[in-house]
Amino acid sequence: MDRRTKIVATIGPASQDADTLAAMIDAGMNTARVSLAHNPLDEAIEVIERIAHVADAAGRRVGILADLPGPKVRAASFGDAGVRITDGSVIRLHAAASGDTSTATRIAIDHGDAATSLEKGDRVVLGDGAIELVVTATDGDGADAEVMTGGVTQGRPGVSIPTTHLRLISPTDDDLVALAALCDSRVDHVAISLVTSATDIVRVREVTGHDGPRLIAKIETPEAVAGLDAIVAEADGVMVARGDLGIRCALEDIPFIQKQIIHAGVAFGRPVITATQMLESMVHSPLPTRAEVTDVTTAVFDGTSAVMLSGETAIGRDPVRVIATMDRIARRADEAFDSYQWGRAIGQEQSVSATGAPINRRITGAISAAGWRAAMDADVAAIIACTGTGATPRAISRFRPTAPILAATPSERVARELTVAWGIEAMVVDRRTTTDGTVSAAVTAALRAGHIHSGDLVAVLVGAPEVTEPVSDTLRLVHVT
Ligand code: PGA
Ligand code: MN
Repeated sequence: MDRRTKIVATIGPASQDADTLAAMIDAGMNTARVSLAHNPLDEAIEVIERIAHVADAAGRRVGILADLPGPKVRAASFGDAGVRITDGSVIRLHAAASGDTSTATRIAIDHGDAATSLEKGDRVVLGDGAIELVVTATDGDGADAEVMTGGVTQGRPGVSIPTTHLRLISPTDDDLVALAALCDSRVDHVAISLVTSATDIVRVREVTGHDGPRLIAKIETPEAVAGLDAIVAEADGVMVARGDLGIRCALEDIPFIQKQIIHAGVAFGRPVITATQMLESMVHSPLPTRAEVTDVTTAVFDGTSAVMLSGETAIGRDPVRVIATMDRIARRADEAFDSYQWGRAIGQEQSVSATGAPINRRITGAISAAGWRAAMDADVAAIIACTGTGATPRAISRFRPTAPILAATPSERVARELTVAWGIEAMVVDRRTTTDGTVSAAVTAALRAGHIHSGDLVAVLVGAPEVTEPVSDTLRLVHVT
């Protein structure tokens, strides 16, 4: 069977040429992530178009996720060679003017008032947390800080300062400008950084509209963890953004925050992407560490829909090998996943998450629960979800059934959006005007694609085509002839 856990890979200098992209798609990349934090908008759009072109040429369905930088504070570039920040040295932090660079003694900070908002005793962290400074003195133009833990940095690392000093508003004006351009490109998902409340998602949706790309809330601040349910309810998916979480929360809390975010995402039928440092050592090494292999497996067992690669594929030594390695680990974890226990636990929660939900969602939720149960009792060869929006296959996906989930949708866009959802294989099938016609077209498409065979029993979830609200109100068990 196909791998159930999806792979999201970040595209960067090591992977943005057409040949590498083609090899990554071949190795199992389901969704490509383009980060706008590291690329000017026009270059990002060029990369997005190239990914789409390479995927189309290979006849493969690859989702594209654009990641908005949000109000992330960064240092002006240290250059590509790497600069050593020495323990105990004192570094000047100042606001960046255009053209500024950063050095081992002066760090230019790109966010207008970040440098001047610092106070004595503040902890300032560079990059993913390895380099730590403490502010020793301030004046009107910036601050002096002593290096508590040094290290080597390069490029434009993030600069984490206490969130209380900055009005970290996501999306930023730059994000909103980027969004307008992204909506016209082949982007399927937009990830929103440093979200603190559901309002941030609403503001993005005002620009993208309800037919625009699906919105992934990156959970990477303590505020977002505290307001998790409201954010998950508003967003179309969530990311466990362990990089920033690891800077802003206690490191030892990360495994539990990960479980909490994944659980909330699954309960609401939203895809969850677990991100950052999953195979980090493969940036430089041909093999992951034992701990990394175990981490990926744990994320799958926690119930993540997708696992993400960042620097491993963006700047790593061998992005294709990274994908192939991730593919092996995820397949092995999928195989060992305790589908029955998981489905039972989710089934028992259903009535809780349905309380107060709109009628169509309650109907689809209940029918998908019945579909999971029937698929198991009747030992079906596949579960086919006929869908206009993707909600029905996502609803059945939350039970993590052992039978393959096939989504039949008239929309190529919806099919691509399912490339981050757990265990769903999408098929594009023309729209039909009756329930019978929809069922029979979906079964025929699944047969033609070789997903099912004559003599198989399949479960089909379908909605009445004449109903305007997206809903699946019917479960059929079909003996395929
Ligand atoms: P980033 O987000 O890589 O864009 O910062 C992911 C994370 O923080 O883990
Ligand atoms: Mn982040």
